[in-house]
Amino acid sequence: MRPFVLEITVIDPVALAQDLIRRPSITPADAGALDVLAAALEKLGFTCHKLRFSAANTPDIDNLYARWGQGELGQGELGQGGRNFCFAGHTDVVPVGDAKAWSVDPFAAEIQAGRLYGRGAADMKSAIAAFAAAAEGFLADKPDFPHSISLLITGDEEGPAINGTTRVLDWLAERGEKLDVCVVGEPTNPLRLGDMIKIGRRGSLNARITVHGMQGHVGYPHLADNPIPRLVDILAALKRRRLDSGNAHFEASNLEIVTVDVGNTATNVIPAAAHAAINIRYNTEQTAAGLRAWIESCCRLGNGFEDGRVEVTFQESANPFITQPGPFVQAMAEAVAAITGKQPELSTTGGTSDARFIQAYCPVIEFGLVGQTMHKVDENSLVADIRALTEIYRGMLERFFA
Ligand SMILES: [Zn+2]
Repeated sequence: MRPFVLEITVIDPVALAQDLIRRPSITPADAGALDVLAAALEKLGFTCHKLRFSAANTPDIDNLYARWGQGELGQGELGQGGRNFCFAGHTDVVPVGDAKAWSVDPFAAEIQAGRLYGRGAADMKSAIAAFAAAAEGFLADKPDFPHSISLLITGDEEGPAINGTTRVLDWLAERGEKLDVCVVGEPTNPLRLGDMIKIGRRGSLNARITVHGMQGHVGYPHLADNPIPRLVDILAALKRRRLDSGNAHFEASNLEIVTVDVGNTATNVIPAAAHAAINIRYNTEQTAAGLRAWIESCCRLGNGFEDGRVEVTFQESANPFITQPGPFVQAMAEAVAAITGKQPELSTTGGTSDARFIQAYCPVIEFGLVGQTMHKVDENSLVADIRALTEIYRGMLERFFA
């Protein structure tokens, strides 16, 4: 058994958040951010595994899996009834955009009027720092704690997400390392800390439709075949149907036409082909397979889909999931209420996150800071919120392991 040496108050969540923000880790760069985190966690007794993954046609990515617990990876107390509470997040950030529009240096991590400014202040370096500090506080008075606390932190959440969380999850599974539950620290609160816990996410399906015709002179249409009216009919058919009306945990599924492209600059030419793309954000009333079959049938309607005049390609970027309200969700809600005095809404709205990958392994929910400024100029978080989030995460750990 490895001896644990706890240095109390090693981690100040605000100072650690500042250290992380000062590493300009714009995807795919790490810029030393994970080393900053690993160094802090190692002082608490966490075993850190730095994981660098590569794949063809995509940049190499650094990731970190750190666990506090008495067994080796995939062994020890985890095999004897111990539980592994995982916190997941990302140290990569989106670009600053128009740097001149910022009122501060986006990587200086300045505090002004009670707010910590910088890229990643809300999404989501400060939440990682809060969890690390919460873990320290939680473990400080439990030298014989028989369970595990882990952090799964990727450098590829804002990018293609190929060499990130999915690869770490594969790596853990290969080694028999189990996660019992996971909290993702994305900024889930629309306006104020305590507003919202995400207990699921919608799925996302992309379809690209190409209608082929025959190019020709507009004055001789009988010698050509215009693909545009057929594409318009297909899109109208797709848009006409109401997919569903939602359910207890999800809003209605929605289809958006995101682009229509012909690229014809001439007024006297019937073009050879017309293209469109659609995106569907869908709930658990739908499946990707069902939606694909429906889209294909719409494209077939008298349009010769069979003879290659209409082509459809699909990209499934996320499946919908729900973590049903139960003791795990309840523990988070109580931890939030105890610190903020608010009953958080349990929601499945918004975009996707890496929770879409983790849900295949264990129950996953999301709670973090206020998301109002994420990806924006002058991204920031209230310093008081970072400290309150630390207390909430600690309260969550206390309740989960009670
Ligand atoms: Zn994020």
